[in-house]
Amino acid sequence: MTSNFLKVACRDCSNESTIFSRATSIISCDVCGATLTNPSGGKSNLVGCNVVETLE
Ligand SMILES: [Zn+2]
Repeated sequence: MTSNFLKVACRDCSNESTIFSRATSIISCDVCGATLTNPSGGKSNLVGCNVVETLE
């Protein structure tokens, strides 16, 4: 399975961030500090953001 990057938008403030789809740490929004993803079984579990675009 190939890894890729996701462009996501924070659900709270709509700030867009680019995250690694298999990030192994919690990623927070740069603007409001909301948790965007939690690592889950080697794959990011998106908890506070919506995927805008999948990047190769
Ligand atoms: Zn935010």
